[in-house]
Amino acid sequence: MIFDVIQNLLKQEITKIDYERYIKQLTFDEKKSKSDQVVLITSNPYIAKWTESKFASKIAHLFELQTGTKPTITILVGKKDGAKFPPEESYKLPTISAKHTKSTILNPSFTFDSFVVGSSNQFAYNAALSASEKPGKDYNPLFICGGVGLGKTHLLNAIGNKLSDSGKSVIYATIEQFMNDFTSHIRNQTMDRFREKYRNCDLLLIDDVQFLSKKEQTQEEFFHTFNELLQHGKQIVMTSDKHPRKISGLDERLLSRFASGLTADIQKPELETKIAIIEKKCEINGIPLDHEVVQYIAAALDDNIREIEGVIIKLNAFSKMMNQKISLDFAKSVLKDQIKETKDHITIEQIIEVVSRELNIKPSEIRSKSRNSAIVNARRVVIYLARNLTTQNSMTPLAEYLGMKDHTAVSHAYKKINSIIDDNATFASKMEELKTKIRSK
Ligand code: ADP
Ligand code: MG
Repeated sequence: MIFDVIQNLLKQEITKIDYERYIKQLTFDEKKSKSDQVVLITSNPYIAKWTESKFASKIAHLFELQTGTKPTITILVGKKDGAKFPPEESYKLPTISAKHTKSTILNPSFTFDSFVVGSSNQFAYNAALSASEKPGKDYNPLFICGGVGLGKTHLLNAIGNKLSDSGKSVIYATIEQFMNDFTSHIRNQTMDRFREKYRNCDLLLIDDVQFLSKKEQTQEEFFHTFNELLQHGKQIVMTSDKHPRKISGLDERLLSRFASGLTADIQKPELETKIAIIEKKCEINGIPLDHEVVQYIAAALDDNIREIEGVIIKLNAFSKMMNQKISLDFAKSVLKDQIKETKDHITIEQIIEVVSRELNIKPSEIRSKSRNSAIVNARRVVIYLARNLTTQNSMTPLAEYLGMKDHTAVSHAYKKINSIIDDNATFASKMEELKTKIRSK
């Protein structure tokens, strides 16, 4: 049957764990499906939502390859045995748009078991575990902070999964979802429903609260949600990429609420932990990697675990495609563009070259005294990148090189750009993109 073929094709393309957890749980509804519409059924709403967001386009594409028609993919929640589906309305998954997040989706792969503990994250792990064992008791609220890709969302979901398995009602949302939910309920005058949702749970998990910065109205609502839950002994866990005190434009009242619980930070993993994480990911995903390859990846890549995971998946895909074992040489050749140069290989000239090309500002303008705002911005970007990527990063030589007054001017520019990055996710990801471009030169 066609769906068996599609499942098999997917099996080749995605990780074993994704396959077992999601794709295998789907059944094809022959009666409801047509050539341009494929209806799949699963009994679990999380699996439905997750499959929809992660795999629907891939599934549609594979159908197109097989049948010549690209169908829409609908994933319904219902019974597998086919005969007795509940009436359509009762099992139809609500369409979830970014602005109307009704149910909140936990990632079932993010568990305590799949989290590797090392000294960099031990404290946060223990705190998260306690919060899941004694919700609302010792560490409330729990605030987990740390850099990008270091496992904050993973721990947040681990708490959620554990408590949700034990029957507690769990709400997980990014602060952005909370914010969007809030504004749309205000617009529709349905604030009672909003409050019902966020204030009637046993566990509230809010991801990425750094984006609360300067959003006064949302902060106000969040403050009341917070108080209501704390008063009733409900557990709140939040994450942020920085310490609450460093989130600019955060209301003092919120700050003191956050501080009334426990703040646990996750540091960058040391080499041993990185190695252990890579080994764990390989084990979970059934990817065979020799120890020397694991060591190479751990040493050569940045500390962002998400990026490291991407690299493992890429290696695996390439090795299947080219039918080759993943030897050290193979890994080096596949990853040559991705593995960053060591810091001292990157020069400020290279940075200026990339920035000037990307922002369309001449190198000579960047090094001029011009106050034109686009040029000022490009100069700040250069300062930021130089301080992050090179060893020529002390303030005084940078000031000289860029024709700026002195090191305080550089320091000021550096602070300014960091605050823009904190406030503006799009800008922040642009900076990451530039870093990758520079490193892969
Ligand atoms: P962030 O801190 O940005 O929220 P995530 O929690 O999304 O980071 O983690 C990024 C990826 O790295 C996830 O796939 C997560 O499973 C993985 N990861 C991070 N830390 C660990 C760890 N200690 N053990 C296992 N996986 C980890
Ligand atoms: Mg996260």
